[in-house]
Amino acid sequence: MHKVATICLLLGLLLGPPSVMADNGFSVWFENFKKTATDAELHAFLYAMPKGGDLHQHLSGSVFVEWWWQLALNETEHGDVFYTRLNIGLCQPLEDITRAGDTNLMFQTIAAYRYQRLSACEQAKFRRLADLTQQEQEAWMNSIRLDKAHEGRDEFFEKHWQRLGDLTANPWIRAEALALNIKAFADEGLVYLEPQLTLLGYRDTKGEAIPPSVVADVITRRLAQPDLREVGMTLRFQQAILRFVPSAETDLVQAFAIVASQPLWVGVNLVGREDDDRGYPLRFLETLRQLRQTHADVRLSIHAGEVDEPNFHIRDTLLLGAERIGHGLNLMSDPTTLVQMRQGPYLIEINLISNLLLEYVENYRQHPFPEFLRTGIPVALSTDDRGMWDSTMTDEFFVAVRHFDLSWSEIQRLVRNSLQYAFLPDKEKAQLLNNLALRSQAFEARFMDVGAEEALSRVKSPKRGFVCRKYQLCAGD
Ligand SMILES: [Zn+2]
Repeated sequence: MHKVATICLLLGLLLGPPSVMADNGFSVWFENFKKTATDAELHAFLYAMPKGGDLHQHLSGSVFVEWWWQLALNETEHGDVFYTRLNIGLCQPLEDITRAGDTNLMFQTIAAYRYQRLSACEQAKFRRLADLTQQEQEAWMNSIRLDKAHEGRDEFFEKHWQRLGDLTANPWIRAEALALNIKAFADEGLVYLEPQLTLLGYRDTKGEAIPPSVVADVITRRLAQPDLREVGMTLRFQQAILRFVPSAETDLVQAFAIVASQPLWVGVNLVGREDDDRGYPLRFLETLRQLRQTHADVRLSIHAGEVDEPNFHIRDTLLLGAERIGHGLNLMSDPTTLVQMRQGPYLIEINLISNLLLEYVENYRQHPFPEFLRTGIPVALSTDDRGMWDSTMTDEFFVAVRHFDLSWSEIQRLVRNSLQYAFLPDKEKAQLLNNLALRSQAFEARFMDVGAEEALSRVKSPKRGFVCRKYQLCAGD
């Protein structure tokens, strides 16, 4: 232990509350705090702590179920009405029975135009969302939350998105969902978001495709409204494409065209379950090399290593030109690449809650995050699909501190990395980093001056389903 730290610790022991520490003693203060704080106090502290950005979030996966519900019901404003499947059964002749699964997913939500095109037998399985009973509404909400022991990867990849159905194809819902996220993340002390927000795949109330430029317009007009301007969140977007579909190469070309034409869209990502090997990284090498012939300044953050098997997909993804890796879980199985990633320049976007709930780790002792962090591989914490986990960015820090006993300097490194590796121009990034340093200093000073009890007395950290279930953080609330 450093001499100064030892003296601070001794002073702390002699004089009681840690408010007497010297100004460089916050690391020691934090070690003392961890020893005595309850889980609820640690959560409140991490909620109040100034944060940087969230570099890995899928916007349609970041919407809490009660938000989806409200947004869906409010859409009558733009003429959209939604129906959800409440009954299952056979509507096709027996010889077509193998296709019945396609039309029997409970709680799949569809827009009115699609409902009207169904046969009377299929229509009878659906009910208008607004007409659901309280109990049905709760079941609808539960169907897009990953909160049961038997639910895991298949439920998430094969049911959740399909259930959301046409809700994700409505640009006004998407814009409002973004607005709600901006406000909620700002409340947690974040100043930068870089959501994967696609401009492809939207439909109007007649079922006609809405062009990307129109969707971008809906989003940017919402961002310009006073309530969001007041928040002051810095934003950039990534255009993500589904990697395993037959059209993925064409979609990739379109994604580059979007980044070239939309100022706020700065990066491209490849998404979709990686155990579907049709989306393997090197499939895109030729297309990306072609695109780089004519496109400047398209940033690449790409999912890789979010699988159980060992492979070289992270190495291959760096070969694609990725500057950041999403998840990077199986990097341990590729020591050569692991060694090369130490000290940067690439960052791994860590999603602790996602990885546990999707069963890529059985428990946090299996997670490579501390190995990456403590061998000098740049990492930042992110939320991935927090709407479905029912969690927050604070929860990611809470999990990290609780399971890996992070030091204050490690927490600060994670926070700084989430801005340092943002796809932002240098000047804007420097401003956010300077501002973060000031906010952190003020935060530390406050806790040192008045002590944790006083500093946390007015902090009420929102606790959502994940931490309530896993850490019983809501008992007594
Ligand atoms: Zn992701």
